[in-house]
Amino acid sequence: MNGVVGVLALQGAFAAHCEKLAALDVECIEVRTTEDLGKVTALVMPGGESSTMSHLLVSSGLFDVIDERIADGMAVFGTCAGMILLASDIADGRDDQRSFSALDISVRRNAYGRQVDSFETDLATPFGDVHGVFIRAPRIERIGKSVEVLGSHDGDPVLVRQGRVLAASFHPELNEDERLHRFFVEEIVMKEQE
Ligand code: GLN
Repeated sequence: MNGVVGVLALQGAFAAHCEKLAALDVECIEVRTTEDLGKVTALVMPGGESSTMSHLLVSSGLFDVIDERIADGMAVFGTCAGMILLASDIADGRDDQRSFSALDISVRRNAYGRQVDSFETDLATPFGDVHGVFIRAPRIERIGKSVEVLGSHDGDPVLVRQGRVLAASFHPELNEDERLHRFFVEEIVMKEQE
């Protein structure tokens, strides 16, 4: 593919995403500055701690620039904390926590009952069963009409898409399966913007 996919590398589980993209022969760079962002055509926002990432996004000057790029149609894939960063509403967030409102969903941080640490499960998706690793995962409590649900767990959406924005509440970079990254690259990044 032409172009470079960036992985936001301010904090969290960014390295495994770059490995997945490299395995698909996609050029990947870690994004820490506005200059890095200028080199990419699409962006992955990894898991980690969304409140810390929010803080670092603002202090690095990246927040406003990413916000503009998303408004211009840049393809984005958020996983776990990355999904929280893309959501329009965050419950149980820190008071000063910001998000891009690129996905019309409400998420509650760390909301999977008492299973605060992690669990794994298989999820039915349009690409077949995907193994989901959930680590202090956000729960989607509301989705807007323009959001497409691609995977659910116990009735809750966990894999969603709104136009050029894809988000998973689990960690698709932590297993051997590259189908979600392939879907992002082939069906969202490489497709012409409408
Ligand atoms: N609980 C984290 C947060 O609220 C997300 C966890 C993760 O990304 N694995 O940011």
